[in-house]
Amino acid sequence: MSESSSDWPTDTIPVVPADAAEPGAAREQAAGRGRVALRPVAEQLAKVLSTIGSIDPIQLALLDAQGLMLAEEVHADAPLPGFDNAAMDGYAVRAVDLRQANETNPVALPVVGDVLAGARSVSGMGPGLAMRIMTGAPIPPGADAVIPLEHTDRGVARVQIHRPVRTGECVRRAGEDLAAGALALAPGATLGPQQIALLAAVGHDRVMVQPRPRVVVISTGSELVDVGKQAGFGEVSDSNSYMLAAAARDAGADAYRVGIIPDDHARLLDVLDSQLLRADLIITSGGVSMGSSDVVKEALSQLGTVEFTNVAMQPGSPQGFGTLGRERTPIFCLPGNPVSSLVSFEVFVRPAIRKLLGKRNVHRQTVQAMALERMDSPVGRRQYRRGLLHRESDGRYSVSLVGGNGSHLVAALAASNCLIVLDEDTTEVVPGSRVTVQPLMLAQR
Ligand code: AMP
Ligand code: MG
Repeated sequence: MSESSSDWPTDTIPVVPADAAEPGAAREQAAGRGRVALRPVAEQLAKVLSTIGSIDPIQLALLDAQGLMLAEEVHADAPLPGFDNAAMDGYAVRAVDLRQANETNPVALPVVGDVLAGARSVSGMGPGLAMRIMTGAPIPPGADAVIPLEHTDRGVARVQIHRPVRTGECVRRAGEDLAAGALALAPGATLGPQQIALLAAVGHDRVMVQPRPRVVVISTGSELVDVGKQAGFGEVSDSNSYMLAAAARDAGADAYRVGIIPDDHARLLDVLDSQLLRADLIITSGGVSMGSSDVVKEALSQLGTVEFTNVAMQPGSPQGFGTLGRERTPIFCLPGNPVSSLVSFEVFVRPAIRKLLGKRNVHRQTVQAMALERMDSPVGRRQYRRGLLHRESDGRYSVSLVGGNGSHLVAALAASNCLIVLDEDTTEVVPGSRVTVQPLMLAQR
């Protein structure tokens, strides 16, 4: 992986989302007990995005490239369409022969052949003659128009034609879509079904694209047990690795879940070391607070390339971010509470994955919605509340809260479809006022 910047800037904020707060606004904000200096969300995000580089393009088969960004110019080697062909089922004719044709005085022409779609060669057609022709079949040399079946008596040996025809009528010209050598698609095009159709039409079965980042997801915590095993007293089912793998895939990545790692330095460093081989980005969850068993923070802060900080946000304040290994693979160390983990993913990891995909706009679209209830928020911290976004019959949005503030509330998280973003300066929202909402709808992979 090539990095866009080797050092984190200290004061410059190169990339800030549209709704980002002024950097520094909450920098000196005290966080209650312990008086920890908080870093503004916008500043942390800027550090993340300036560290994330790009992945080298790879060549993929056409369908595997769906949803990805084209990384090469694709030209049409041959004209598209490749030859003059019929746009309708009918008869190939010369327009000049039908000048006098009308309903009462149809013109009769001898039918001298049949041209089917797929005909590899076509004989020429002399004046005063017609050939039956199918949609997509090559226009016989000498003919200059196609009269659709419905304006004829559909004759086999001789056809009566009831109207004149314009030169070129119902003929698709070679190269009218793309001339030979013309640019079909430029680098940066996202390959949806339409673009894949064009690549196939110009005969490209493989294309260079920005690949899906390979995202490795690791859960840490000695209390965790894998799904499928009944969690006993003191044990917790590992939901984060599933949630984060799903979120990474939803953001466009290929996600790999690695098993649970207990709170053990050596095991953590071992697993990270082996995962560096395949990862373009690593996400861990758990172990980033200040407790004695917060081994992710303890183990990785010693390496000097991963920084642990408290961000002015709620939930998800403790964040670890940096790079690992010779390739400087980005690593995000997210807090363990499921809601904190998902909010952290949305705020920092998703934009990073979108940047690795080469997307121009890495941020989710936000909408303005009317708050249906009162909401409180601590000053100096950007708060992300789980919400339920509705679309009213007049097309406007309204939003209500789901669940409480607890960042362990997975059922409430599952009942939500958006995050309500209450910025650093907001302390209360009264019912009826407008709030910024980040919908968590499924993205286009
Ligand atoms: P930590 O960030 O390690 O202090 O964990 C905070 C809380 O999140 C604890 O209650 C953990 O049990 C819980 N937790 C940590 N990791 C996971 C996980 N992978 N799945 C579900 N809950 C977790
Ligand atoms: Mg833990």
